[in-house]
Amino acid sequence: MKKIILALALINFAFSQSQTDSKLYDIIDAVSEERLRNDVKTLADFGTRHTLSDTLSDTRGIGAARRWIKGQFDAISKDCNNCLEVFYQQDLVKKGTNQRIIKDVMVVNVVAIQRGTKYPNRFIIMSGDIDSRVSDPTDFTSDSPGANDNATGMAGAIEAARVLSKYQFESSIIYVGLSGEEQGLFGGQGLAKYAQDNNWDIIGILNNDMIGNITGVDGVIDNRTFRIFSEPVPANESERARRARRFYGGEVDGISRQLARYVHKAVKTYMPEMNPMMVYRLDRFGRGGHHRPFNDVGFAGIRIMEAHENYTQQHQDIRTEDGINYGDTFEHVNFPYCKKLTAVNAINLASIASAPPAPKNVGIGGIVQPSAKFSWDKVDGAVGYKIYWRDTTSPTWDNSRFVGDVSEYTLDGIVVDNFFFGVAAVGKDGHESMVTFPNKIIR
Ligand SMILES: [Zn+2]
Repeated sequence: MKKIILALALINFAFSQSQTDSKLYDIIDAVSEERLRNDVKTLADFGTRHTLSDTLSDTRGIGAARRWIKGQFDAISKDCNNCLEVFYQQDLVKKGTNQRIIKDVMVVNVVAIQRGTKYPNRFIIMSGDIDSRVSDPTDFTSDSPGANDNATGMAGAIEAARVLSKYQFESSIIYVGLSGEEQGLFGGQGLAKYAQDNNWDIIGILNNDMIGNITGVDGVIDNRTFRIFSEPVPANESERARRARRFYGGEVDGISRQLARYVHKAVKTYMPEMNPMMVYRLDRFGRGGHHRPFNDVGFAGIRIMEAHENYTQQHQDIRTEDGINYGDTFEHVNFPYCKKLTAVNAINLASIASAPPAPKNVGIGGIVQPSAKFSWDKVDGAVGYKIYWRDTTSPTWDNSRFVGDVSEYTLDGIVVDNFFFGVAAVGKDGHESMVTFPNKIIR
C-alpha cells in the first residue's frame, strides 16, 4: 500500500513538473493588437518626442508624451485598486555632457511598479523608450514620429501593464518608459543609479527597442523571428572572477545570458509559432540600447527586438528621395508582430515574477571523478531544484533533472569536464528561477 501511494505521489509530482501554466496562455491572448495600434498612433502624433523637445505644450513634444504615458499608467492603476505605484524619475543632464546635449535638460522616465506579494523589493523590469530622433541627433523640432523606434517598445510596456495588472505576483514588476536614449542612454543610467541608491534587488531588465518591423531593408519579410541580445559576462566583474573563468568555465554564462536563455525557453514552450534568436553579443555591432546602463552596473539585462531592421525608417528625416520614403512613420509598423513580442515580454515577466529567487552559493565539484557534485543554499518558497546541463558548444540548457527539495546532489555517470551546469529553483506551480551558474568549487 505504502509503495502504491509513493508511486502515485511520484507520478503526480512528475506530472506537475512537466505541466505548463495555463495562466500564461491567457496572458498571451489578452494582449491587444488594437490597443497597441492606438497607443503607437498617439505617441507618433506628438510630432516629436526628442529628449530636448518642448515640454510645455499638451499636444507636441516629449513633455506631452510623458504626461500621456503617466496618465495611461495611472488609469491602469485605478482599474486594479491602485496596484501600480506611478512616478517620474528624473535627472538633470548638463549642456555639453556630450555633443548631443546642446542645452541643459531634465531627462524624465515614467515608472510604474506592480508590487510583489512576497518579494516587494525584487524587481523584473520591462522597458521601452519615450524619446525619438531624426537624421541630426540634435534636431529637436522637426517631425520625428519614432513609430517603431521606439513607440512600439513604449506601447508594449503600457500594454503589458494593462494585462498583468489583472494578476498578482510574488515579485515586483516594473513597467517603464525611459528617456534620453538617443542622446546617450541617459534615462537608463538614471534609473539604474536610482535602483542602486534604493537597494533594489534587480532580477533583470527586458529592454524593448523596436518591436514592430517585419520588412527588412533587404526585402526579407519575417513575422516569426525576433532577436534576444545579451552580453556574455558582466562588464563590471572582478579580476578574480575573470581569472577563475579560465579554469572553471563560464565564458558564455553570465547573468544576462541566463536571462536570454530563460526568455528563449519560455517562448519555445508557450509560443512555439515564434522563432526566438539568441544573439551572443551586448547589442548590434557598434550600436547601443537601454539595457546597457543596467549591465554596466552589474544587473542582468537583454535587448528584445525585431530580426529584420529597415534603416530607411530609422533616425531619418521624413522625406522622399530616389523614390524611397524615409522616416519612422506609423504605417510601417506591423501590429500583429508587435502584439507577439509584447506577449513574449508579458509571459516572461509573469513567469519570472511567479518564481522563487535563484539559488545562491552554487558549488560544483567532481574533478577526477565519474560524477558531478552540486550544492546550493536552499531558497525560501522553492518546492525543489533543477540541475541543468548542456554540451559545452550548445547555446541552450538541453538537459535537466529535477532533484527535489535538497541542497546538494550528485549526478552519477556525468563527467564534470564535458558539460556546463547550472541550478534553478522551482516554485509550487512549476515556475522556475533563473539558472545560477556555479560560483564556487566543492570537494
Ligand atoms: Zn533609435
